[in-house]
Amino acid sequence: NVRVRFCPSPTGNPHVGLVRTALFNWAFARHHGGTLVFRIEDTDAARDSEESYEQLLDAMRWLGLDWDEGPAAFDGASGGEVGPHGPYRQSQRMDLYRDVAGKLLDAGHAYRCYCTAEELETRRELARAEGRPSGYDGLCRDLPAEQVAQYEEAGRASIVRFRMPDTPITFTDLVRGELTFQPENVTDYGIVRANGAPLYTLVNPVDDALMEITHVLRGEDLLSSTPRQIALYRALAEIGVGGGTVPAFGHLPYVMGEGNKKLSKRDPQSSLNLYRERGFLPAGLLNYLSLLGWSIAEDRDVFTLEEMVAAFDVADVNANPARFDLKKCEAINATHIREMPAADFTAACAPWLRDPFAPWKPEAFDQEAFDALAPLAQTRLTVLSEITQNVDFLFLEEPVRDEKSWQKAMKPGAADVLRSIHSRLAELDGPSWAADPLKEAVLAAGEAHGLKLGKAQAPLRVAVTGRTVGLPLFESLEVLGRERTLARVDAALA
Ligand code: GLU
Repeated sequence: NVRVRFCPSPTGNPHVGLVRTALFNWAFARHHGGTLVFRIEDTDAARDSEESYEQLLDAMRWLGLDWDEGPAAFDGASGGEVGPHGPYRQSQRMDLYRDVAGKLLDAGHAYRCYCTAEELETRRELARAEGRPSGYDGLCRDLPAEQVAQYEEAGRASIVRFRMPDTPITFTDLVRGELTFQPENVTDYGIVRANGAPLYTLVNPVDDALMEITHVLRGEDLLSSTPRQIALYRALAEIGVGGGTVPAFGHLPYVMGEGNKKLSKRDPQSSLNLYRERGFLPAGLLNYLSLLGWSIAEDRDVFTLEEMVAAFDVADVNANPARFDLKKCEAINATHIREMPAADFTAACAPWLRDPFAPWKPEAFDQEAFDALAPLAQTRLTVLSEITQNVDFLFLEEPVRDEKSWQKAMKPGAADVLRSIHSRLAELDGPSWAADPLKEAVLAAGEAHGLKLGKAQAPLRVAVTGRTVGLPLFESLEVLGRERTLARVDAALA
């Protein structure tokens, strides 16, 4: 039975790197009919926040990445946690970590280290100067009992340090193949702070062991901690903590942003909220993020989550860094928007159309008018938020008139053309106020001035919609209606 976990720390806003990790674990779990455990790694009270915790749950729900065990139900139905391995927030598991640390000390897998930060730094510098590895040198590994007693009596602070084996650690990374780490490069490391607070280095593998995690897919930045964690797992198995199997690890490639630098969570491009606010579809965003290290087939960029789940094999994950390409992300999202059922598209636009901060008065919104133009908008949007600028002319009393566009469209003579257009449009009414006759009228007016349709309609578009680009003009005029169209042309000529 496959058991994977998504275990973010609730610090700051969710970012796309985190989402990529969640997605790969989710797809892996779903592909194998396994279990996704959602665990909150909130052992750092100074950095963790309740707000960030709520945002993580909200983000996963919005994305539709459902979990099977976690601090709350995916559908929010039950108020409390779901699953037999709780609590799923590490802040509620402190006693357990204390207990495990005690057992590791008792069994000799860990020891108290009394070295002060300054002492460590001095020795590290010396090691560097002499070209030796600069990890912990093992000074406190086997302190004589008298020395320990003396330190304790003097009230010297101590951390708990894990004793690494003296033999190399080899494991088969699911993405990178066999990797071997030499003991001199993976030295004894702290697992409990001097103040008794357990560290990530302890709590993460302890919980993976207790929650019977079978596969760990996570970012390459954590690769250096893997040999340590594997050694800790083995020690845990020996002292009877957890099920005894070491999970398989797969490290997902780095994601590179602007200037070929690692995409950082502080990078504005990486904030998930930004994508939500711009109106990315979860399906579009996740489709793109899946391509950061994986591909469904050569020459195929667009697919559904179901297709991803069906095809997902961690052996196909590429170890090379992936480049984050916002343009491609947008293009893929546009395709997903285009391919939505019409009713879903309308529903997806609702938050923007019904937004109290929309540029029009809420009561001016006209669902029927919107529905009439929605299919034309659907094929043109990159992100849903663009719907506003595409249809605002329908609901505003007066179109937003951008002076620059206006000046550009109103080339010398344009007013004359617009006047001719006005008189021809005015002849249309009732059923003849429709896209085709409207087009014919503008075409004819333009011809009378020696202008092609494109040139003739430019000032009309600006007069009516306020913009130089937008939805197909004649359909727009049909929906806007005769009275409002003619009034706007009048106003433009005034
Ligand atoms: N809480 C850790 C992080 O967000 C999890 C690392 C892991 O997946 O092991 O970096």
